[in-house]
Amino acid sequence: MTKILITSALPYINGVKHLGNLAGSLLPADVHARFRRQVGDEVLFICGTDEHGTPAELGANAAGQDVRAYCDAQHALQADVYRRFGFSFDHFGRTSTPQNHALTQHFYRRLDAAGLIEERSVRQVWSAQDRRFLSDRYVRGTCPHCRSEAARGDQCDDCGALLDPADLLRPRSALSGATNLELRESRHLFLRQAALVDRLGRWLDTRDGWPPFVTSLARSWLTADLRDRCITRDLSWGVPVPRPGFEGKVFYVWFDAPIGYIAATQEWADAAPGRDWRQWWWQADDVSYIQFLGKDNIPFHTVSFPATLIGSGEPWKTADVIKGFHWLNYEGGKFSTSQKRGVFTDAALTELPADLWRWWLIANAPESADTDFSVARFVADVNKDLADIFGNLANRIISLAHRAFDGRFPGGGVPGDAERQLAHDLEQRIATLQRHHTALEFRAAAATTRAIWDTANAYLQHTAPWSAIKSDPARAAVITRVGLNLVALGATLAWSIVPHLAERVLGALGRSDAVPRWPNGPLLPLLDRGAGTPVARLGPLVEKITPERAGQLTARFGA
Ligand SMILES: [Zn+2]
Repeated sequence: MTKILITSALPYINGVKHLGNLAGSLLPADVHARFRRQVGDEVLFICGTDEHGTPAELGANAAGQDVRAYCDAQHALQADVYRRFGFSFDHFGRTSTPQNHALTQHFYRRLDAAGLIEERSVRQVWSAQDRRFLSDRYVRGTCPHCRSEAARGDQCDDCGALLDPADLLRPRSALSGATNLELRESRHLFLRQAALVDRLGRWLDTRDGWPPFVTSLARSWLTADLRDRCITRDLSWGVPVPRPGFEGKVFYVWFDAPIGYIAATQEWADAAPGRDWRQWWWQADDVSYIQFLGKDNIPFHTVSFPATLIGSGEPWKTADVIKGFHWLNYEGGKFSTSQKRGVFTDAALTELPADLWRWWLIANAPESADTDFSVARFVADVNKDLADIFGNLANRIISLAHRAFDGRFPGGGVPGDAERQLAHDLEQRIATLQRHHTALEFRAAAATTRAIWDTANAYLQHTAPWSAIKSDPARAAVITRVGLNLVALGATLAWSIVPHLAERVLGALGRSDAVPRWPNGPLLPLLDRGAGTPVARLGPLVEKITPERAGQLTARFGA
């Protein structure tokens, strides 16, 4: 049995996420975790909310709550949405826990002892009216290059120029609009990443199975130009810095957030006896660790987090595979949480069942390039794949079992050439599907799943049990029995992607395993079993989205 550790990038605490956040990390991580459990691997799937940083403080201010209460509420909200999407986390933790505080401070002490932490003076923008230092993105002003009045302290979005806050003309606070800003010196800690370039490069040399764009992005960062990273901030909400002179400062959210993967595993271990987080993170050479994340997170996971782990000098588990994703775009533009643009996960679930979204997002996963979501494409795809192909497959054979065989898997007859050919075809397709899942090729996995449903439909079309019933009842019984088993097989193979639909189908066929086992060995016996087992009526598995309903979705979700 292989031990597989899976983490998804931690969603930030404030606000319900949009579908783009699911497509590039949470959902593929869940699909892979489910698949690995099906093939019998020992899986630990960890995620949580990323709760520190300025946006959490500002969100709490806007909501009139203290930060802790705000994070409690937002964490519960997100956890509920993910539960309804069917995400099968072993633990969904939080970065604001005592475990993460202790572990973050531990890493700081180890890095400091290794000579990898350096104190430096930094000039920062202080806003007396806001009574805080403003991070670059919270300083706005006029771009010195193009005169846009909406430039941020880090970048001008209109002309693309990279800026420092001091470059801005007429700078103002994005929070209060205050213009009486001043530059103040503040002491901060830097992680000396530059001193780790060679070790990080050797680490990267020993990794494989990464998408090429992830490896090349990592290589582009691991050069002599790699800059040391400031890992502290002048904020009150976060992990305190245990160092004289640093009272009132906290670690930068990007320093403590990935440490949260380990801390959330500690939370998981603390929640029940017999669990050992060290088995997954400490001298864990027998563990294969896969990280799922969007491309914006790649530098932090290929450089900063490994620098923390490797720089500590301790035997921490580092990622074996980083599966990065491109963007899911929205009707030709970007999804945006701050601009409330796109399909948000809570709204998605009030409109349609989770599995419709899960299916589309996996079948169109932004693996090798950005992908565009549109209501029209979504409706066309789920109608065809889930209603016409999978739904019809299940409904017509279950209906036949009720019409002609008393609502049971019929007995009698023996499989013939058509069934042997079918089993042979399917064995090859299942092997292909398993290869795609193992290689983290999600689009290909969905396409192969659909091809398996097509194969099952073609078999029933070809053998036409409904017309064989009068002329050759034994033959009709074999085909119906095989057809029912085909439906169970199609549901089992799709379970990782559409677990709710699959469980409904399997339940109707008398199968109720918590994790439906992946088929292995010769298929023909599996397709011939079950004679006498009752079959429950299913009703429509997937309601087809009518043009009228599609119009409503466009009105709600269209650009
Ligand atoms: Zn500009």
